[in-house]
Amino acid sequence: MKKHNFSSGPSILPQEVFEQAAEAVLDFNNSGLSLLEISHRSKDFVAVMDEARALALELLGLENKGYQALFLHGGASLQFAMIPYNLLGANQKASYLETGTWAVAAAKEARLFGEVEIAASSKDANFNYIPKEIGVSPDASYLHLTSNNTIFGTQIQSFPEVTIPVVCDMSSDIFSRELDFSKFDYIYAGAQKNMGPAGVALVVVKESILGKTGREIPSMLDLQKHIKGESMYNTPPCFAVYTSLLTMRWIKNNGGLAAAEKRNREKAALLYAEIDRNPLFKSTVQGEDRSVMNATFVLTDERLQERFDALWKAANISGLTGHRSVGGYRASMYNAMKIESVQTLVDVMKEFEKQA
Ligand SMILES: *Cc1c(COP(=O)(O)O)cnc(C)c1O
Repeated sequence: MKKHNFSSGPSILPQEVFEQAAEAVLDFNNSGLSLLEISHRSKDFVAVMDEARALALELLGLENKGYQALFLHGGASLQFAMIPYNLLGANQKASYLETGTWAVAAAKEARLFGEVEIAASSKDANFNYIPKEIGVSPDASYLHLTSNNTIFGTQIQSFPEVTIPVVCDMSSDIFSRELDFSKFDYIYAGAQKNMGPAGVALVVVKESILGKTGREIPSMLDLQKHIKGESMYNTPPCFAVYTSLLTMRWIKNNGGLAAAEKRNREKAALLYAEIDRNPLFKSTVQGEDRSVMNATFVLTDERLQERFDALWKAANISGLTGHRSVGGYRASMYNAMKIESVQTLVDVMKEFEKQA
């Protein structure tokens, strides 16, 4: 029986996407060939890549606005290095908003290329909030943000207005809500949270910000080379790209980002209401900074842990254990999660209260 999967990533995808992906592995487009055994230069796969790139821009409302969408190897973590490699000249400075483990990792890579300024940090409180007062040098090459902090359960709800290019790691909330995406110059996301299997990252970049560092860039790390190669400079991760395309089609067919946001807000509201109501649980994040994607919470009495764990496991729930740097629990409610799964968790929390 299929589990209620609250895993933070790799994570849930729509059931129909699993089925369509499985079918393509066996027989792609009734071709008598598996998706895994055809040339990436074949007509059928080039069509997949073209549609995936176009649909990413369409969902974000960024068609014909000077952006390029790419599907690249190396996950979000390689982007941590590709960003400064492509955008940060020697003797230049980049500004990073330090809101969690991933933001720290991104800034660390940038220090290999130039100076890094921390625009603000919530490290003082184990990253349980989003800093609102930020100091960004007007001469910085870019500001780097993490829209959703997967580990700490915080999410930026209102984005800082700056005059320099904005780079945003949207790994764990890509395609989950409506935003004016034209305010960003560089959006990237590892696929394995909201979009597809591990092995590919979506990069959406405004072409006009590239080619300004005066630096020679190894081909595989050079965004302009990837754009020129139409995201096929080398063999792309074909299966991960195809499965991401299936998810994007699913999002589009189910009302686009507006409808996805509505579903996601309903799920989060249901769970946070129970965390706040139930005296046996405590949220680790308060107020508007709470993530709609990843809800982090702890038990008010840790001695009850074994009993709670047994209850949710018996209810066919999986992947609820929190990240070691926060402890407790984390319910990841990505795009593909149904509200019925969240209701199952809420029912378990109520039952736990009754039994305690
Ligand atoms: C998971 C995650 C990453 C790391 O992704 P990889 O694809 O494993 O490199 C980076 N940033 C955020 C916000 C994440 O959630």
